[in-house]
Amino acid sequence: MSEIAYRIPQQRRLVTDLPGPRSVELTERRRNAVGAGVMSSVPVYTADADGGIIIDVDGNSLVDLGSGIAVTSVGASDPAVVKAIQEQAAHFTHTCFMVTPYEGYIAVAEKLAELTPGDHAKRTVLFNSGAEAVENAVKIARVATGRKTVVVFDHGYHGRTNLTMAMTAKNKPYKEGFGPFAADVHRVAASYPFRDDLNHDGTPISGPQAAQRAIMQIDKQIGTHNVAAIVIEPIQGEGGFIVPARGFLPALADWAKAHGIVFVADEVQTGLARTGRWFACDDEGVVPDLVTIAKGVAGGMPLAAVTGRADLIDAVHGGGLGGTYGGNPVACAAALATMERMEELDLCGRARHIEQIATERLRALADEVDVIGEVRGRGAMLAIELVLPGTREPNPEAAAAIAARALAEGVILLTCGTYGNVIRLLPPLVISDDLLLDGLEVLGDAVRAVAGALVGAPQ
Ligand SMILES: *Cc1c(COP(=O)(O)O)cnc(C)c1O
Repeated sequence: MSEIAYRIPQQRRLVTDLPGPRSVELTERRRNAVGAGVMSSVPVYTADADGGIIIDVDGNSLVDLGSGIAVTSVGASDPAVVKAIQEQAAHFTHTCFMVTPYEGYIAVAEKLAELTPGDHAKRTVLFNSGAEAVENAVKIARVATGRKTVVVFDHGYHGRTNLTMAMTAKNKPYKEGFGPFAADVHRVAASYPFRDDLNHDGTPISGPQAAQRAIMQIDKQIGTHNVAAIVIEPIQGEGGFIVPARGFLPALADWAKAHGIVFVADEVQTGLARTGRWFACDDEGVVPDLVTIAKGVAGGMPLAAVTGRADLIDAVHGGGLGGTYGGNPVACAAALATMERMEELDLCGRARHIEQIATERLRALADEVDVIGEVRGRGAMLAIELVLPGTREPNPEAAAAIAARALAEGVILLTCGTYGNVIRLLPPLVISDDLLLDGLEVLGDAVRAVAGALVGAPQ
């Protein structure tokens, strides 16, 4: 693993209250120019970012534990990625791959074929966003199978376009008022070990049992023979960093295979080293028919992909897939450099190292307070689920209060979850150990303060 060199000092440092005066000014301007439907997790505006630090417009250095939602795994300004972008931009920024194609697109497709699970013949088509990749995986599955119905899961998140809103579970804020939604999308039970029912004898239901529950719903409510695809996040992201019980994904994948159903792993958030392997499906040796990829793949540039079985993807008629910007040459150059850096810096190994450092501390914290119901996740995709003390009742207020306290100390934390009660950690994989430890300490103090306030203890 080669050393990571940073351009910006990797140290948390506040020089104003947050938000500072320049950020407040920008919030004012924004109010009169930007649509109110777009919200930001934190009210501070970015001036620079590198490694695990974001510098705001007032000169504060904040610890980034969100990576712009799992995107800047390789950092927000990795020098090799920046150089690749500059070099490509100096030659051509766009020609449209559907008009006059270029090598970068092909090279990204070759690389994704190498990195995605399975050694079967693969093809790739490139797009701009995760939602677009998911939409196209469904298009491919429908053409390849001649069937219509798409099966998705409770707590699933797949995007904000019309079809992917239909596929996303959570109403507010993603769907409220935006219907009618695309038809032929059917949702079934997922595996959520912390909240799943127990068996009659009090043992937790297993992964294969949870899969059987979903399969029964599908067969009875839709009819197995009508299903084109099941689309699933191997670890659910926006839904709450829910890691299914072991055996759930393999059982579903086996069942799909036996019935000619396209198994689509939505690895938009989990993919590309985030969970300590190239793809989260690798953990249980699951080989999806199609994988959707976006977020971390191009070092922050907008690029997305569907990669998977050649016979399925090549079933689509010529001209059936594409888009003006899909596989933009600058984004492709960034993606190639990003994947190369991930190998060079062993970012899969870094993600596992982050897991070790963080889970040890998070588990100790969970032992100390009674508002953490569960510590879970894999690699550098980790979370704590906040509950009312001593229960499993969701505690979204605690999650919000913890994130607010951490921000006041200069640590950016994101929340998520169907119940809004999950704090998720998605640090850049290039974050230094010291900075990560500092961020975790701030998180720990915030959790203790909020837990103490809840039971009325002095702070
Ligand atoms: C973020 C996300 C999407 C949507 O990606 P966009 O680029 O925001 O369209 C889809 N699926 C999963 C699992 C995601 O995390």
